[in-house]
Amino acid sequence: MRLCVYCASSTPPSPSYVHATQHVGTLIGQRGHTLVYGGGDVGLMGVVARAAHEAGGTVFGVIPAALRDIEGVAYEVADDLVVTQTMQERKALMYNLADAFLVLPGGFGTLEEFMEVLTLRNLGYHQKPIVVLNTDGVYDPLLAFFEGLQEQGMVRPHARAGFHVAATPEAAVAHAETRA
Ligand code: AMP
Repeated sequence: MRLCVYCASSTPPSPSYVHATQHVGTLIGQRGHTLVYGGGDVGLMGVVARAAHEAGGTVFGVIPAALRDIEGVAYEVADDLVVTQTMQERKALMYNLADAFLVLPGGFGTLEEFMEVLTLRNLGYHQKPIVVLNTDGVYDPLLAFFEGLQEQGMVRPHARAGFHVAATPEAAVAHAETRA
């Protein structure tokens, strides 16, 4: 399967986020999957790419030209590195390639990617699994916020059901493999 990972372009000081990200990459490689991701060699993005590679997985990066040229942060040893003109093209390609989405600890970029694929799923554009890896409860405040929105009638129950929360890398990858 092609598993699309969204995660931080920074390296958080908490070692548990780094370890969980590494573990996801290792599982992707060991289980014969392809990692589809943002193509960067920075922060947790670089961590997941190297771990997937080291475990024998295939790494497919998709990076906009501006990030590659200006910041020089691409993971140049990826098996495939597609350079797109725009961020929008990049996200569309990642979305189309993926069989499932894994949301790991990350910042605004990660959240934006998560919200986009969740909204598309809720509108019926796809039925690919979306899994949030909630390492050390990093996403608890966001999940509580979503619950509040649901209580206020702005998030429908079926929309909240559009993603699954996993506590461990094993559970996250296993859910992604269900294709449900
Ligand atoms: P953030 O969570 O704000 O660190 O953003 C990370 C997400 O945005 C990743 O999943 C990437 O797809 C994208 N992204 C942000 N910065 C970069 C970068 N320097 N190179 C490639 N992708 C990036």
